[in-house]
This record gives sequence, structure tokens and C-alpha cells, in this order.
Amino acid sequence: MKWNEWILCFIYPGRCAVCDEVLSPGSGSICPACVEKLGVAQGHHCKKCGKFIEDEDGEYCENCRNRRHHFEEGYGIFPYDGWVQESMVRFKFHERAEYGKFYGKMMAAKGGAYVRRWNPQVILPVPMYRKKKKKRGYNQAEILAREVGKRLDIPVRTDLLIRKRNTKPLKEMTPQQRRENLKDAFLAMPECKDYERILLVDDIYTTGSTVDAAAKILKQQGAGKIYFLTACTGTGI
Ligand SMILES: [Zn+2]
Ligand SMILES: [Zn+2]
Repeated sequence: MKWNEWILCFIYPGRCAVCDEVLSPGSGSICPACVEKLGVAQGHHCKKCGKFIEDEDGEYCENCRNRRHHFEEGYGIFPYDGWVQESMVRFKFHERAEYGKFYGKMMAAKGGAYVRRWNPQVILPVPMYRKKKKKRGYNQAEILAREVGKRLDIPVRTDLLIRKRNTKPLKEMTPQQRRENLKDAFLAMPECKDYERILLVDDIYTTGSTVDAAAKILKQQGAGKIYFLTACTGTGI
């Protein structure tokens, strides 16, 4: 660590992405005690969306069995519960943009094998509505995309996929309502047709409505296969 970075750490100390405690300079993106808490999605995964599934013999999760997706395949690193849920709320709504470094690093480390197999030519963060981004100061998906792109050496573009309008939070909606809410939410540039393999990056994957809506519009513009990588993946849906 350079001396000026070291001084910056004192003025703006980073916080642990797991417990939010102030980190001591040069100690990394989470505190040593929290390293032990890290449970990444292990075990049996859905072949389509990467979601953890209980049924050892099943190949696909319930959601993927019942629904055709517009994306090819995807994977999320952390199960969205416990500390991850609390950390994500801070990352998105309480100005903890710095957490992106930790999540991006984990996405590249634990999802790297998937990404290499998919071999995307470009990474597109799931876009945020312009006014919303201005208000929040950042799009967390873009922070993640940049971190993953840097680590896996894949270019990131934010000009190909745009969010045309603000959408309501999807949390309490049924899958049908989610799809309705996301209808015409995205706009894809004609240049998308130049890409045969695109990786979408987002913070959370739950039922896939967001990734599907984005994948659909990208493919309508002539893009090839769409994959996704997220920091977390919902459980029990
Ligand atoms: Zn911690
Ligand atoms: Zn699935």
C-alpha cells in the first residue's frame, strides 16, 4: 500500500462488507474474523440459473423447470440470507459502495470458472434508471461489473443497455407482476448484434425476471448468447 493510500484509509476508513466494522489500514476488504463467516453457495446447483437446490437428483430448480428463460446460463456466489442480506441493504441503500470491491473479488474468484467457460466478449452491468443513479450516486451493478471485468480481463460497457424508466421494487411481487413491471424497462443499442456472448452482471438473482427482461431485449437487437453472474442468489424461490 502506498503512503498516500494509507493516509486516505485514516481519513476515509473502509468498512468490512460482512459486519460493517471499520477496517484497519491495509487489512483487505473484510475483517479477519469475518472471513470465517463466509459461506459461498456450495453443493448442488441448478444447471440453468446456478441456484442452490436441495434435491440431489434434480438438475433444475423449480423456477427453471417451470419457465423458459431468455438467458443461457448463470451463477450467483452467495446465498441471499443472513449476513449477506443485511450487507446488501447497506451496499445498495446506505452508501457502502466500497463493498463492491469485496463482492467483485469474490465473484471473479468463485465464478471465474463459469465465466471462462462462457467466454463472454463483453460485460454489461444491469443498468439503473438515470435519475435513480444520480440520487444514489452509483449503480451497484456497475461497480461489481467493473471489478469483475478488471479481474477477469473482460471489457465493460455501460452504453449498450439502458434502463428507460424507473421500475418498482420487485420484492413483494409475483413472477407475473415482475414481468409486467419490467416490460419495456430496457433499451438495447443496435451495436449489441456485434456480440455473440454477453455477460450480464447484477447484485441479486431471485426469479430471473430482471436478467430475462434484459436478455430478451439484447437478443431482439441481434445479440447472441446471454449469461449472468450475480453477487447473490435468492434461496427458497
Ligand atoms: Zn467484519
Ligand atoms: Zn434454476
